[in-house]
Amino acid sequence: MSVSKSTEDFRKYIRDVPDFPKKGVMFRDICGLLKNGPVFKSAIDELASHYGKQKIDAVVSIEARGFIIGAALAYRLGCGLVPVRKKGKLPWKVYRKAYNLEYGEDLLEIHQDAIEPGKNALIVDDVIATGGTIEAVAELIKEMKGNIIGAAFLIELTGLGGKEKIKDIPIFSLIKY
Ligand code: AMP
Repeated sequence: MSVSKSTEDFRKYIRDVPDFPKKGVMFRDICGLLKNGPVFKSAIDELASHYGKQKIDAVVSIEARGFIIGAALAYRLGCGLVPVRKKGKLPWKVYRKAYNLEYGEDLLEIHQDAIEPGKNALIVDDVIATGGTIEAVAELIKEMKGNIIGAAFLIELTGLGGKEKIKDIPIFSLIKY
């Protein structure tokens, strides 16, 4: 069963954990939303309905929590899933990009044959914070000549300026802080 929910309703299922994983970060824990079947389904359905009329070839989602949302959304949209992983996890030839996030920096990798030129990609992650992660993913997709139709999130942390990093990409998020 899926139930219709407003942003406020979804927010009730997000737990705020101060100083995790390091001091000064307010971590938005999505586990409460995920463990509630009807709420999880509503969240995915709402994201899907936003993109229902667009042709999407692949959801491109980011390790690890992004896979949870991305896989469910790809299934719901009936499109493919392309994983973007932290360095050293993908088994074949990769393109890689350095990125910063709210609490660290790392390398992201994508398989070289993951996106064909001209294919429509929707970037999906659980949270957009500073936007560093999504910026790196967007650069990878652009270098592969994929067509980015948007970026979808459960949560947007508006105070951290993530949107500014990917000005040319339309963002849709269910919950804003
Ligand atoms: P950013 O690159 O700064 O936009 O960070 C986005 C990534 O880091 C997402 O994949 C999130 O899973 C994670 N992240 C960053 N900040 C938070 C936060 N405050 N709460 C939960 N996840 C976060």
